[in-house]
Amino acid sequence: MKRISILGSTGSIGQNTIDLVRRDPAAFQVVALTGGQNIDQLARDAKELKAEVAVTADDARLDDLRTALKGTKIEAAAGAEALIEAAQRPAHWVMSAIVGSAGLRPGLAALEQGATLALANKESLVAAGPLVMKTARTNGARILPVDSEHSAIFQALRGEDSAAVTRIIITASGGAFRDWPLEDLERATPEQAATHPNWDMGQRITIDSASMFNKALEMIEAREFFGFAPNQIEVLIHPESLVHAMVAYCDGGIIAHVGPHDMRHAIGHAMYWPERYPLPVEQLNLAAVGQLNFHEPDLRRYPVLRLAREVMDERGFSGAIFNAAKERALDHFIAGHIGFCDMCDIVEEVLARLSSEDSLNSAGFTLETVLEADQLARARADDVVKERTR
Ligand code: NAD
Ligand code: MG
Repeated sequence: MKRISILGSTGSIGQNTIDLVRRDPAAFQVVALTGGQNIDQLARDAKELKAEVAVTADDARLDDLRTALKGTKIEAAAGAEALIEAAQRPAHWVMSAIVGSAGLRPGLAALEQGATLALANKESLVAAGPLVMKTARTNGARILPVDSEHSAIFQALRGEDSAAVTRIIITASGGAFRDWPLEDLERATPEQAATHPNWDMGQRITIDSASMFNKALEMIEAREFFGFAPNQIEVLIHPESLVHAMVAYCDGGIIAHVGPHDMRHAIGHAMYWPERYPLPVEQLNLAAVGQLNFHEPDLRRYPVLRLAREVMDERGFSGAIFNAAKERALDHFIAGHIGFCDMCDIVEEVLARLSSEDSLNSAGFTLETVLEADQLARARADDVVKERTR
């Protein structure tokens, strides 16, 4: 039996992971489940899967969790340190599916104990790629990508010589506003941005798909995970979202990964790797699909793709700043303080202001300094929002 933990088990990726665990109960023993505010879900899943420990990120909800787990042997815990302790419990496989940079420290803790980390939390690679990859190397731990595009690249690279790769092409659906007139974008509401044409995902990543921040994060994630140069990483709009990524080789061959709109494919691939295992996802009928379309992204519609290139070239703290400023800009957009198009401007402004920050320029790249950059970027993003809405 594989001992597994699911960090962020109450979210969209977490629930899809649990769905697969539930279908193959003899294969997995659940160590830790972690969530946020959704105590009922967390407790229900912990009981059903007989987890050893359930953790809520919110200290104030510990009593609620204890009450919900009364009469069971499941331990209840709360808070940021408890999340890390849960990730440190010996396990073969840990799903990293917390949203945002809050997933960084628990993910590192899982790698430090040598667990295989199934990485959905792209923000940790964007903010601290070199640190995450080094932690995996020094602890002999493996990271398996769960983001569908990166799982696709991983699959298209299997058995190949990565020195023969010339380009990798990540596809993007184009999000909720793909076909909107450009001049309407600034009036787009959070509700409109939170509807995805093809995928059913958490609210934040769905809005990030409409703004293309999600694809920007994925370009940086691909650079950090696979080590390709920024100019080898391309994005194509592909409205059908069936080709998730392609790897182009020096002999002209391009290997494309085609799969259904169902995260259980990428999650299951990481769960059973290096084997292939039957998964409860649609077997695509390409004759019924008929057509696959691809076109270049328009940088006027998706200006953040340009910023992503700058971050990939710059590296250092720019990934942490980019991600944290994006998280705050997204908070402000959801709260109705700023418009849809302001998000990219705010992140660009924060990157510019922090590029001359002495405390960062002289600092080494450690977990502490990455977290400092993250906090600074959040504070600067709030400043910029205040100045703009004054
Ligand atoms: P979600 O919002 O549905 O779930 C997030 C989970 O994290 C929940 O369990 C929540 O309780 C927990 N959480 C939130 N804030 C937290 C905090 N501060 N501390 C600890 N836990 C916290 O998100 P999701 O869509 O499942 O995405 C999870 C991660 O996977 C993200 O990094 C996202 O980019 C990535 N991802 C998601 C999808 C998808 O289809 N949903 C696809 C690819 C990658
Ligand atoms: Mg993705």
